Amino acid sequence: MANSQKTTQATRLIHPTRSAPAGFRSLAVPVFRGSTTLFTHASEIVDTWDQEKAAYTYGSYGTPTTLELAARIAELEGGYRCFITPTGQLALNLVYFAFLGAGEHVLIPANVYGPSRAFAEHLLRRYGVEIEYYPPLEGNAIASRIKRNTRLIWCESPGSITMEVQDVPAIAAAAHTHGVAVALDNTWSAGVHFDAFAHGADVTVQAITKYIGGHSDLLLGSVTVRDEATYQRLGSVLNHLGSAVSPDDSSLAIRGMQTLHVRLKTIEQSALKVAQWFANRPDVETVLHPALPSCPGHPTWKRDFTGSSGLFSVVFRPPIARRDLHAAMDRLTLFGMGYSWGGVTSLVVTPDLEETPNARQYGDRLARFYIGLEDPDDLIADLEQAFATR
Ligand SMILES: *Cc1c(COP(=O)(O)O)cnc(C)c1O
Repeated sequence: MANSQKTTQATRLIHPTRSAPAGFRSLAVPVFRGSTTLFTHASEIVDTWDQEKAAYTYGSYGTPTTLELAARIAELEGGYRCFITPTGQLALNLVYFAFLGAGEHVLIPANVYGPSRAFAEHLLRRYGVEIEYYPPLEGNAIASRIKRNTRLIWCESPGSITMEVQDVPAIAAAAHTHGVAVALDNTWSAGVHFDAFAHGADVTVQAITKYIGGHSDLLLGSVTVRDEATYQRLGSVLNHLGSAVSPDDSSLAIRGMQTLHVRLKTIEQSALKVAQWFANRPDVETVLHPALPSCPGHPTWKRDFTGSSGLFSVVFRPPIARRDLHAAMDRLTLFGMGYSWGGVTSLVVTPDLEETPNARQYGDRLARFYIGLEDPDDLIADLEQAFATR
């Protein structure tokens, strides 16, 4: 494509004869933009999504920036390969689409992330998929729910809002006996505190939006797979969905990964300190933090996880009800009120009980906290004044 002919200015604006010097060895991964990517020889022109096999064929299948992020997440999680999706939600949806068809059966934990349940209820049912929720602490007994048409078992550990820690190895053992795939939403552990593939998962999903992004300024998801067969199964579906991700956001996620360990360490310590503070209060019934014995499934956390993170729930004692919680939350000055988490800012929400029916067991006395990178003593002082009995 070198411009060897005598051309006019209009053409030279598109095919210049000068360029910048080569050899800039930045420590940052370059942001590659591109829809069209050029083939060198006409005989190489082919349209395949698998850029590992075909080299680069089109930008929507991944630029070097997005595929670098995918490679690093696959390495972090100890998986075979990884796909990057525009949101964590689409990562979940991709797994549903890739494993399930009309007349097939999926098992979903009752404490699943609300929008994952909503996708199953509002879309999958419409396409004839049979949906069944199971108690998250069921473990090996899930074998009795596996049917001839079961294709997929979801795990989410700890689960959203109610934080039950699942026995993933026991569920995976039961699933694999019947040739059923196991997918795990591994967002809480950031792929750091729980080795999903060593514990039997076939596919893992993360909301990169949370810890890997780490600064509440991007939306991305990931799906990491155990083997080539699963990679092919998901890749072709992702291609049909027409999904593509921003190289700028991918570059921010790569930057986030470089500080993931130090951020998580500080968040872990601060969250434990705040959770303990709640646990010692007389107006608190229970603290649902996997590293505390009061959390359902805590022994499993102790057996399988290497650490904890910043998200936990607090159940207050009656007569405290949602109105009182909301009054206290409005008095907080350092905690933001908003969805998502994993950034530097501490947050609090009360759950939407339509979206997360499993939380109804705690009445309307539950609030979910996320601890960020502020000084935990300042956070406790803020909670102290907001939740003071008055
Ligand atoms: C936030 C979250 C998601 C979805 O991530 P988005 O990027 O916000 O779509 C999926 N699973 C869990 C457990 C989450 O907390």
